[in-house]
Amino acid sequence: MLAAVVAGVLAAAPLGPTLGVGTLLQCQEQLGLRAFVTGTPRCPEAAKRCFGIVVHVVVEGDAPVVAPVWFAEQVAAANRLFGTIDVGFETLEVRTEPAERASIESRSDRDHLGRGEHGTASAPAGVVHVWVVRRLADVDIAGDEIRGVHWRDRADPTRRFVILSSIAGDRTLAHELGHFFGLPHSRYPESIMNKTPREDPPWELRGFHAREYAIMRGRRDAMVADGTLRDRRRARPRSQGVPKNASRSSAPD
Ligand SMILES: [Zn+2]
Repeated sequence: MLAAVVAGVLAAAPLGPTLGVGTLLQCQEQLGLRAFVTGTPRCPEAAKRCFGIVVHVVVEGDAPVVAPVWFAEQVAAANRLFGTIDVGFETLEVRTEPAERASIESRSDRDHLGRGEHGTASAPAGVVHVWVVRRLADVDIAGDEIRGVHWRDRADPTRRFVILSSIAGDRTLAHELGHFFGLPHSRYPESIMNKTPREDPPWELRGFHAREYAIMRGRRDAMVADGTLRDRRRARPRSQGVPKNASRSSAPD
């Protein structure tokens, strides 16, 4: 439908006066936001499991709080690091959030992101929801801000998601996905889950420790089994369904 609207706008554009500038800007904005899906990496071929991301981006004025390329770098870094456990991520959908959500100040602000919008344990969403905001306050230290967080809605802890601030480094999404895949912070020098400032090893050589990868493998399989994540490489078309008596013969791995 958007394509039809845009085509209509482009066709009408030379007529100028009959078309509001606001309409054109609105379409440009929509097209720009679309790049959060089309301009970000797909699951790498080598990744045996492919998980979807739905990104919710705060728009202030006419612009998202980060550029699509910023988010593309986050997904690319996550795909590089999660390749070790045969996992890839790709963005399925972009949704806009109003400017009132540009600054997430409190625990309550975090809880309310997406309330009523995505799944619970009984109706799993199957994707990773990621919010991108301009500022994410440190709820433990007044006045400070943080780069990202993996958050559980306190009213429904099965509903968990990632929030990224516009000051995030390029591996912040990968770090928060580490939490999503069951990791606590660690003290491994080579791990991006280690928050202690250090020079060695250099930033570009850091990733996850072997023990962390082992934990994430286990959590990956558990999340696929319980429906928290849907593996897009194994997904059946919904319309076909699965015969009841066939489900036992297809062993999960
Ligand atoms: Zn962390």
